[in-house]
Amino acid sequence: MYLVTAGDGTHLILLLGRLCQRYGTWGIWLIMKVTDGMKSGALKSVELDVHGSVQTVLPIEFNGREVMLQAHAYQGEAPEEQALVLIHRDPDAPKDVLPVVRVHSGCVTGDIFHSLRCDCYQQLQEALRHITEVPLGVIIYVPYHEGRGIGLFKKIQAYALQDQGLDTVEANIEVGAPIDSRDYDLAARILADLGMSEIKLLSNNPAKEQALKALGVRVVDRVPIVISPNPHNQRYLDTKRRRMAHKI
Ligand SMILES: [Zn+2]
Repeated sequence: MYLVTAGDGTHLILLLGRLCQRYGTWGIWLIMKVTDGMKSGALKSVELDVHGSVQTVLPIEFNGREVMLQAHAYQGEAPEEQALVLIHRDPDAPKDVLPVVRVHSGCVTGDIFHSLRCDCYQQLQEALRHITEVPLGVIIYVPYHEGRGIGLFKKIQAYALQDQGLDTVEANIEVGAPIDSRDYDLAARILADLGMSEIKLLSNNPAKEQALKALGVRVVDRVPIVISPNPHNQRYLDTKRRRMAHKI
């Protein structure tokens, strides 16, 4: 049994003696590799670099037709910080055309199941329509913004409290969650990476515009997304307008 000290001061007890016994010269070779690795610090760098992006093309069905989009996935610092970026670019678009950008917070109930309790699905559809009609349109889809950043579980917990009469702000407070805990750091870094430091923002939320501006994005215009309320989300939309300054 050997005591090996790694470069970062961590003491690792390895059963290298047994390894040597069992595998003979292979064991000795492995011991040398392990100890060399520790001396050189190589074994400390096994963590994957999680900051990065990958891209492909994504054909989607939209309004009964096939639309070809560029798709980029981004990985932020924390494991959950991932985003999907969909870009519609007209081949004839001038080089200096301003991109129209939607930063869309993921909503499992709305985006996937078309829940009528919120307006996420309608906003996403409207954003898709908009970005595919301009020369350069972008959707930055942020799954970890679920429930304005509180996650799926707490969102549904807050829904249950809304069933008892609380509004969306009161319910968040009751479940011990911030009213809005979204941050836009990754979205801002994505825009910088795409060379889109100046944008038109598709949003009804002035706080989102301010957050992006604070992170260095030049938002030259905010284009509202007009949604028709339904009996299930009327109160939610009213609360967003009254208590969260959304321009709906
Ligand atoms: Zn929603």
